Amino acid sequence: MELPGFPVYLQLSEKEFKNRIEKLYRILNACTLCGHKCEVNRHYNRGICNSGMNLKISSVFPHFGEERPLVGTHGSGTIFLSNCNCKCVFCQNFGISHLGEGDMISEEEIASKMIYLQDIGCHNINWVSPTHFAPQLVKALFIAREKGLRTPVVYNTGGYDSPGLIKILAGIIDIYMPDIKYGNNKNAFKYSGVKNYWDIVRVSVKEMYSQVGDLIVDDFGIAKRGLIIRHLVLPNDIAGSSEVLKFIADEISKDSYVNIMKQYTPYFKASNYKELMLGITMQEYLRVLNRAKELGLTRAN
Ligand code: SF4
Repeated sequence: MELPGFPVYLQLSEKEFKNRIEKLYRILNACTLCGHKCEVNRHYNRGICNSGMNLKISSVFPHFGEERPLVGTHGSGTIFLSNCNCKCVFCQNFGISHLGEGDMISEEEIASKMIYLQDIGCHNINWVSPTHFAPQLVKALFIAREKGLRTPVVYNTGGYDSPGLIKILAGIIDIYMPDIKYGNNKNAFKYSGVKNYWDIVRVSVKEMYSQVGDLIVDDFGIAKRGLIIRHLVLPNDIAGSSEVLKFIADEISKDSYVNIMKQYTPYFKASNYKELMLGITMQEYLRVLNRAKELGLTRAN
């Protein structure tokens, strides 16, 4: 299937691409890339994400454990960034996301890694937790485009991106894959240390949807463009799943591709919270799936 203007970043003029990079780097002088709005100058200081100016990554590999439309036959070309702006107490990647394990890398080097992932046949370039490094990644994408990158980018985020950041990414990203972790601000703060999460994620996901629409796949089921939403069901309805699904059905689209995830495991500091100590029950999971059906979501599974 031919999708006009695919990947979308190929359509951006050199001048406009450079203009976006400049805008993004300017934000780093008083960083407001995400909802924390630390306003630190990233040249000299670090905010809650503990990241400076240099990109830091943990791994680059073809991932076969992502959603089926991303994995296809050759995998999703994953670039796992170190550090994170969310501080989930149950984080399964806490070494990378909380402790910052990984290596510094230049924009030029990461551009070459994107080309490598394309060369080995990956169906997309999957930036995992990109928010705090969005300027550097977009600059790397510009360099990779010059070197012949023609593979769509997946912006795979925890959903705590400032809406202003997402607006600047219009015409650069083909596939947005945000988590919607919680359906209320209170639990988001208590368990992930993020203020006003529910307010911010709703505006950002609406902006993502306005740019790319519902997920489009080709004849082989491979994602070409659109929105994929992830929602991890937490025990004792800590995630506010019903509110999350209602928002998607009422304010995004009933045809949204939604991955309702049941693999919650009490990693990291979860054992400090008795309500998070155990995994979810099958009944809890089925209740969320049924709610999605009741709300008329056609691609939730
Ligand atoms: S990305 Fe977010 S957490 Fe990191 S410095 Fe900027 S505003 Fe703060």
